[in-house]
Formats: sequence, structure tokens, C-alpha cells
Amino acid sequence: MKQLTGNEIRGLFLDYFKEKDHMVEPSAPLVPIDDDSLLWINSGVATLKKYFDGRVIPNNPKIVNAQKSIRTNDIENVGFTARHHTFFEMLGNFSIGDYFKKESIEYAWEFLTSEKWIGFDPDLLYVTIHPEDEEAYQIWQDVIGLSPERIIRIEGNFWDIGEGPCGPNSEIFYDRGPSYGTEDPEEEMYPGGENERYLEIWNLVFSEFNHNSDGTYTPLPKKNIDTGMGLERVTSVIQDVRTNFDTDLFMPIIRELEQLSEQKYDENKVHDTAFKVISDHIRTVSFAIADGALPSNEGRGYVLRRLIRRAVRFSKDLGLNESFMYKLVDVVAENMKEFYPVVSEKSDFVKEVIRKEEERFLSTLDEGLKIYEEIKSRAEVGNGVIGGKDAFMLYDTYGFPYELTVEYAEADGLTVDETGFKLAMEEQRERARKSRKSSESMQVQSETLSNITDQSTFVGYGTTQSTGKLLHIVHNDQTHQSFDGEDEIELIFDQTPFYATSGGQVADKGIIQSKSGTFEVNRVYKAPHNQHVHVGQIKAGTLSVGDTYELTVEADARKNITKNHTATHLLHQALKDVLGSHVNQAGSLVEKDRLRFDFSHLSGLSQEELKTIESIVNEKIFDNLNVVIEEMTIDQAKEKGAMALFGEKYGDVVRVVDIDTYSIELCGGIHVSNTAEIGLFKILSESGIGAGIRRIEAVTSQKAVQYYQEKETKLNEVADKLNVREENVLKRIEQLNKDKKTLEQEVKQLKQGLQNMNNSNIGDSIEEIENIQFLPVTVDGVSAKDLREMMDDIKSKYQSSVIALVSVVDDKVSMIVTVPKSLTNTVKAGDIIKTMAEALGGKGGGRPDMAQGGGTDIDKVPDAINNARNHIKYSQKGE
Ligand code: ATP
Ligand code: MG
Repeated sequence: MKQLTGNEIRGLFLDYFKEKDHMVEPSAPLVPIDDDSLLWINSGVATLKKYFDGRVIPNNPKIVNAQKSIRTNDIENVGFTARHHTFFEMLGNFSIGDYFKKESIEYAWEFLTSEKWIGFDPDLLYVTIHPEDEEAYQIWQDVIGLSPERIIRIEGNFWDIGEGPCGPNSEIFYDRGPSYGTEDPEEEMYPGGENERYLEIWNLVFSEFNHNSDGTYTPLPKKNIDTGMGLERVTSVIQDVRTNFDTDLFMPIIRELEQLSEQKYDENKVHDTAFKVISDHIRTVSFAIADGALPSNEGRGYVLRRLIRRAVRFSKDLGLNESFMYKLVDVVAENMKEFYPVVSEKSDFVKEVIRKEEERFLSTLDEGLKIYEEIKSRAEVGNGVIGGKDAFMLYDTYGFPYELTVEYAEADGLTVDETGFKLAMEEQRERARKSRKSSESMQVQSETLSNITDQSTFVGYGTTQSTGKLLHIVHNDQTHQSFDGEDEIELIFDQTPFYATSGGQVADKGIIQSKSGTFEVNRVYKAPHNQHVHVGQIKAGTLSVGDTYELTVEADARKNITKNHTATHLLHQALKDVLGSHVNQAGSLVEKDRLRFDFSHLSGLSQEELKTIESIVNEKIFDNLNVVIEEMTIDQAKEKGAMALFGEKYGDVVRVVDIDTYSIELCGGIHVSNTAEIGLFKILSESGIGAGIRRIEAVTSQKAVQYYQEKETKLNEVADKLNVREENVLKRIEQLNKDKKTLEQEVKQLKQGLQNMNNSNIGDSIEEIENIQFLPVTVDGVSAKDLREMMDDIKSKYQSSVIALVSVVDDKVSMIVTVPKSLTNTVKAGDIIKTMAEALGGKGGGRPDMAQGGGTDIDKVPDAINNARNHIKYSQKGE
């Protein structure tokens, strides 16, 4: 056999089928696009569903691809078998209603056995078929010449995932020889049995029935072929190594891990599994993150979390105690970049995400160990068995692989209830399976539309109006020559200015008219052969096939949609500029009133980042940049640096939207011809909508102006309410805040003062100086202003007394003196205050019955009061 690298084998496969007139579909990202039914792309066919169920007709019905895939149904076995991975590549050839069983079998056989290609010894190949598939049996026996004992009938060989196409399959096995068998009596030593000797390398699915929604099976109008060969497995055979891990697809990773851990990879050592687990998981995690997934607690994110944890747990076997996985990303990137450059392009981001997640787990590991200790003590007092549910919880919640729990348990002289664990595991799998089954199926082929092959030209890039000849009227999946009535119907014309929903841009609405009838268009979508289908209702008259109609798109709505679409491209680039190149579009909606853009990014955006992004977009608008739209080959587009969206399928000729080289994107949508037309761009909100996915909503043009006008109206209202001019609003608010603070302070003091007053029985302090009653009152923290109010209060109670009220506030003394009118001939308030102020180093004055003053020597208050006493005393004596 030839010596071939994994990369060469992938290349050979694509070349072989190219020679057989197949078109090469690029490998799609692992995160499914526009398909909520799958967690991950898990096979070659998963990305081609739309061809298989007839929604889209491919340019060439013969397709070949090498598709990266993730399978997570069997994680706990990965690392223990020679042939299972969580991430692997599937090489597949497909026929959409073109060739069938015979050719697919012949192709597979020729590729595997011909010296020009792989050159396997035909005597080492076995096949399995479905027991009732006589046709396959005949082909294998008569056309290929396989002897009957090498054609094994297996009941399970029927590929069926619920509603949609399904059919029998035939698997090809390679006999790796007796040395791959073990003495294990459990092993089912035949192709298709659970063993390592007969290795399943390729599965050919003959999809010929439709699994209907009522559970019945009917033959498909068009039969399809779907095949899948595992690249890692076929490589292990060709390179004649014991396991997939020993191929050149894995060894560079394992070598790097040897360096990091200073351990040797060795199949006779226990830690052999650790090398396999880690080298498998790092590929999965690196690719998944580069393709837009991020670790989290649910769905895809949870799978990544589990894989990283499992790898970290196994790294203990290699004596690794700190984060290390991220250090393997570069080898993964390097080893795969020839065919899949994505990891290498985003390696910094990928590393950062993995490192963070590793560190996170290293910190929960201790928690898990604590839980284990609790479970252990319970088991010790009990029957010495760790319950299956507990083991499952450790596995599921704290990332402890079952084997690890067993290992811990053994060291502590305990056992683990394996049956209980498996039961809990099975229950969880069953739940997962149930939730998957119902939704994984494909849509059922719509025959009517897929049979319509007439050309329909979209003429709406430059106009919103055109005539069109009505080619088809479809109602309830039936065609009609003419139609009246109110039912929803679908129309196809030879040409149309109506845009059909695609690339995030919504469809146009509008009116279709002739003398004999009027039709309102509510929705437009693309038929399998790409014609635009106008969905709506007849508003008047009758429509007839063959007639010519005036097709008119709502021009205002279109204009706004166009502005929002170009703004979306600017936003996309600005996000990359500000946040980094890991930002990828995860969804977009371009409507007339607003635009919505979802993208991958780990954390929320700061006000500053949002401002910068908004400013960049506006600058590009104010710079009057020309938007140039050209068609070119995909290679030319790439050379130009065009940003292609993840997983979108592009034909040989692509449409490139170039905003003066600032943003270059492949896009089929409608755009303004100069950015100035957008007028203005305003971000309304930024939020998180899932693990690592952010969403920005924004408006342009009139809507943006409207936004600012609404803000302005609000500002006016505020100014009105504050009774100032707009420019003084802030000052006024600051003043109000300050006033408020002062008031609060005063209220506090007043309350304090009142309380002081009420608490003490002020009257007790009245002194008799000769014939005059003198009432000195000293308080704390009452301002001069409040002091007067306080005085009014006191005076009303002690009307015949001379009152001196003194307060110390903020290092100053304030005072008021009152003298009853009847006494002013004898003693004057102004005089009293003066003598008091003298003591305080201050001033004072006023009328005979009321005077105010203040000073700074707060320690001298008693002296001041004494001065008052003396003054009153001597006044009476006439001095
Ligand atoms: P198996 O029974 O060996 O687990 P399968 O029948 O589930 O495989 P298919 O769905 O038939 O696999 O996939 C087609 C081919 O993809 C297989 O023949 C095999 O070569 C490869 N393959 C499938 N699953 C894996 C995996 N987990 N890791 C590596 N290769 C795989
Ligand atoms: Mg199979």
C-alpha cells in the first residue's frame, strides 16, 4: 500500500470524485447555520439537508465534500476505543436524484481498491447490507464480484432519522487481521459486530423512501445517495497503525503533549488513554470555538465545557496541575491549516477561551472533590457502595468521569454502583435522544415547486418597478391556469423587482397589477430553482398565467431597507476594528425600520466601545464612500479580501459589495450606491442573547433623526419643568441638588434643635437678676436662620424674659437676644448683644427689643452669657 499522509488522503478522495464530475462543497462550520434541529454538524449530509429535502436544487447533483463533524453521543468511550472521536472528518460523495446504488457502490469499490487511488487488498474488505436489500446484494456479488460470505446481512442497516428521506445502507469494513481481536468472549467477531478487528470505514446510504409524518414510507420521487467515510479511520489503515491516534492527524498533538507533561505516550501504560482523550478533545474544542461556539452551561457550550473538563481530569494522569490545553492549540492549527485555516486564523481568541475555561474548572475541581468526600462518608457508614446517582452527579455536574470516581472509590476501599450509574446515564441519554429525534428530520420534498424549472430573473437591484409575465400560480401545492378568490396563493413571473428574503434582508412588499386583477404581495421567498415566489392575496379581479403584469415594490420601504443593509456592513467591519477579528456575524435582520446584528463576542460592550463603533460608522457615512458591487469568481473575491459569511454557500460567481475597500463582503442584498445616502447611524441597544453572542440594534436615516428628535423633545420638557434655558439644565440640576442637600441638613438641624428644646425644660434656666428674668439658652448646630425661628418659639412661651439664644455651628457662634417691650427702657437688646460679642471676638447689633450677632471664639460662650448677666444687672442699677 502507498504511504500517504492524512492530508493527502483527503485530497485524493476529493480528486477522485472531481474526476467523476462531482462538485466540491466546502466544509461548513461545526455550528449549524439556519438549522435549529442539530446541535453540531455531525456528518457530511448534515450540511446538505436543503438539497436532500428539495428546498434548494444544487447546480450539480453530484457533490463531494470533506466535512468536519462533531459527535457527542459516546464521549465516555473516546480515548478507550481505537476508532471513535468527538471531532472527526467525514469524506462523502452525494447524489441528489442523479446516480444511485450501483454507481455509488462501484465508486466506493474503485476508490478503495484501485492501485491508482488507495489500493486496498480487496480480500480484506467486507460489506454489510440490509437483509431485504436484494438489489445491493446483487450489485456486491455480481457487479463487484464479492463472494457471498463477505456480504453480511444486518437488520440495523437502515438509515432513518424520522420525517424525511431514508433508506437502507451498506457499510464497508476492513479486516485488520487476527492480531486486532482479543480473547474477550464479549467481542462479536464479525464485520458489524462490536470489535476492533473488522473496522467500519465507509457507510453508503441509499435514500429511496420518504418517511412521512404519519409514520408511513413511500418511495421518493428522486432517489439520493449519501455516503460517509471516516478520514481518521481510513488513515489508520493506510498508515498501518493500531489506532486513529497513531496517525499523523494526531501524533503532532501527542508529541507536544509529551513535551508539556514530560511523559511518554505508550500503549502499555495507563496514561495512554490520557494522551488519546486530550488529543481528541483539544481538536474538538479548538474547532468548535473557532467556528463560533463558546463554553457555557447549556447546549453546545455545555459540550465544550464537558470536553475541557474531561481533558483536564485526564491530565492529572500525566502529572499536569495547571492549565495546559491552550498550549496545544497551535499544533492543532498548524496540522490542519492546509484544509481548515479557521483555527489558525483565530488562534489567539481560541487559546484565551480555553485557558479561561481550564482555570475555571481547576477552581471547581476542589469543590467536586469536597462533594466526593461527602458522598464517600455516606457510603462508608452505609453499605460501602457509592450510589449510581451520586456517581452520575459527580460525572455530570463536576465533570468527574465515571472511571475517576471508581478510582477514588477503590483507593478508599469502596465500590460504585455501576448499574445505577449506567441507568442514570441512560435516562439522560434517552432524554437527549427524545429531544433530538423529533426535530432532526428534514423537511418533506415539495414536488410542485421543485418541478418548476423556468428561469425567473430578479431585476430589482436597480429598480422597484418592472413588468413581468405570470408563469405559475400555485395554491395548496397545486398549479392553476387562473385564479380568483381570497386564498393565499403563490406567483412566479419571468422577471421581478421583488427581493426575496435572504442574507438577513427582509423581502419587499408591494402590489402586482394588470387591468384584470390586483394582487398584494406580503412575502417573497426563493423556490428550489431560485425563482422568487410572491406570496399574497388577490385584492380584485382574476389573475391568469401568460398575462403581463405591472410589479411595483413599496419604494419607501425598499429605500430604508437598503440604507440599513449597507449600514449593517459598516457596523460589521467597525465591530471587527474595535473588538477584534474574532467578531463574526451570528445572524442579522435588515428591515425598513431598523437593523439587528448578532455577533460572537465574550463580554458586554462598554459605553466607550459603543460610542467608538457608532462614530466609525458615522464617519464612513459622512465620508461619502462609493459602494461598488461586482460579480467575480470566488477566488478573485478572496484575493480582494472579501469577508465571506460562515457556511453560506456561494456559487462559482459571487457578488461582492465593496464599500470603498473599508468593508468588502460577499452579499446578494441591495445596497445604497454611496454611504452618504444612509444619512445617520445610531445604536439603540446592545445586549447578550446567549453564550458569547451579543446583539446590537440600530437605526439609520429618518429613524435616527427621529430618535434624536425624541431625545430633544424630552430635553425641552425637562428644561421647561426646571424653568431654565436648555443650556442651563445641568447647572440648574446641580444647583437643585446642592439646595436639596442644604435643606436636608437644615431640616436635620432643626429637628435636632426642636428635640433639644423639648427635651430640656428651658424654663428651669430662668435666672432672676434683680427684678428681671433672664433666660440664656445654648444649642448646638442650629444655623443663624433657624435660630430666629427657634427664638420665636421660645419667646412665645417666656414673654416676660430677656432671652439670649446662642448656637455653635461650624466653628462659629450665632446669637439672638430679645428683650420684652416693657423692659426696653431699662435694658436694650442691642447693648446686650454687643457685650456678648465682645467676649466672642465678634460683632452684633440691632433694635432695643431684638438684636443679632456672632463671633468666632466658640470656647467663650459662657463668658458671653456672663457679660449679658452683668450688663442686665448694671443696667438696672442705672449704670
Ligand atoms: P460506528 O458504528 O463505528 O460508531 P457509525 O455507524 O455511527 O460508526 P456512520 O454514521 O455510519 O458511523 O458514519 C460514517 C463513517 O464515519 C463511519 O463509517 C466512520 O468511518 C466514521 N465515523 C463515524 N463516527 C465516528 C466517530 N465517532 N469517530 C470517528 N469516525 C467516525
Ligand atoms: Mg455506520
